Amino acid sequence: PNKHSPLDSTSMVRVIARVRPFLPPEISRATDADIDKSIPCVSVLDSPLQSASEVTVRLKDPHSCRNENYKLDSFYGQEDNNLIRIFEREVMPLIPAVLNGSNATVFAYGATGSGKTFTMQGSDELPGLMRMATSSILSICEKMGNTVEVSYYEIYMDRCYDLLEDTPKPKEITILDDKQGNPHLRNLSKIPIYSMSDFHDVFLRGIQRRKVAHTGLNDVSSRSHGVLVISVSRSCENGALIGKLNLIDLAGNEDNRRSGNEGVRLIESQKINQSLFALSNVIYALNNKNTRIPYRESKLTRILQDSLGGTNHALMVACLNPGEYEQSVHTVSLAARSR
Ligand code: ADP
Ligand code: MG
Repeated sequence: PNKHSPLDSTSMVRVIARVRPFLPPEISRATDADIDKSIPCVSVLDSPLQSASEVTVRLKDPHSCRNENYKLDSFYGQEDNNLIRIFEREVMPLIPAVLNGSNATVFAYGATGSGKTFTMQGSDELPGLMRMATSSILSICEKMGNTVEVSYYEIYMDRCYDLLEDTPKPKEITILDDKQGNPHLRNLSKIPIYSMSDFHDVFLRGIQRRKVAHTGLNDVSSRSHGVLVISVSRSCENGALIGKLNLIDLAGNEDNRRSGNEGVRLIESQKINQSLFALSNVIYALNNKNTRIPYRESKLTRILQDSLGGTNHALMVACLNPGEYEQSVHTVSLAARSR
C-alpha cells in the first residue's frame, strides 16, 4: 500500500521535515566563527521528485565528519520555505475527509527554537497552518452550510487546560470516556465562528491566555502542547456528521543529558519527553498496523485516540534548526522511527 497518499483508506501518519532558515543574528554571529556556521547541518540526498515516495535526510556534524541518514516521507529545506506550498501539498488533502466526518491531525514537532510555533501559529504578518487551514475550511463550509466551531486547549504537565474559558485561573478539563470508548473533554469551550475575523478574535484570545495562564512560571507555552481544534458539523439523515481537524504545536523535545535541567524544569521536561515518546509509539504502531495501539500511555495520545487510527489521517512536521546538529539528530531520529 502507498502510505504516502494522504487519502488512503486506512490510518497513517506522514512524517515530513521542515528546516527553518538561519536567522539574521545567527548569520552575523557566524562571520567571525572559525567554521562556517551558515552551512545547514541538514540536507536531502535524493532529488525530491514529486512522485518520490520517500526521501533520505542527511544530518552532518559541522565539527566532525560524522553524519547520519534517515528516511522520511518528504523534506522542505531552507530554499523551500514557502508555507503555502506545504499547506497545499500536505494539509489540504486532509480537509475533504474532515468535512465528511473523519478526524485529522497536524503536529509540529521539534526542539525549542526550531520553528514549530512559526509553522503552526504564524506571526502577525505571516499566517501559519492554523490560520490557513481555518480559512480554507471556512470558505468551503460557507458554500455547503456546515457549522464551524473552535476549541483551543493546552496540555501541561499531563493536565489539560481550556484556553478559551474566561476564568482567572486556567480551567482544568477532565477527560471522560464516552459510550463508544472515545475520549470526551468535559465542558471544553467550543466557539462557533462564521468568518476569519471571528476566528482571529478567538485565536488571539487563546494565544494571549496561553502566554499568561500559568502565573509565576516562565514561558509555559513552549513547554506545553497547544491544541487548536476546528470542528465541522452538518446534519444528515442519522443525526449530525462531525469531523475535527486538530492542529498541534507540540512542546519542545529536549535532550536532558544536554540541557542541564533541574528541579521543576527536569520534571516538566520528563513529562514532555514521555508524552512525545508515547506519541511516537502510537504513530509507529499505526503505521505498522499493529493490533494494539498504546493510546493510554499519556494524556496527549489518550485525547487523540478518536483522531489517530481508524480512517483518520495525520501529518507530523519535524521542525529543524539548521545550526543545531545534535538537536536535529534527536528530532529526525524520533520522527523517522515513527514511520
Ligand atoms: P519553536 O516554536 O519551535 O520554539 P519558533 O517558531 O518560535 O520556534 O521559531 C524560532 C525563531 O525562528 C523565531 O524567531 C521565528 O520567527 C523564527 N523562524 C522560525 N521558522 C521560520 C521560518 N520558516 N522563516 C523565518 N523565520 C522563522
Ligand atoms: Mg514555540
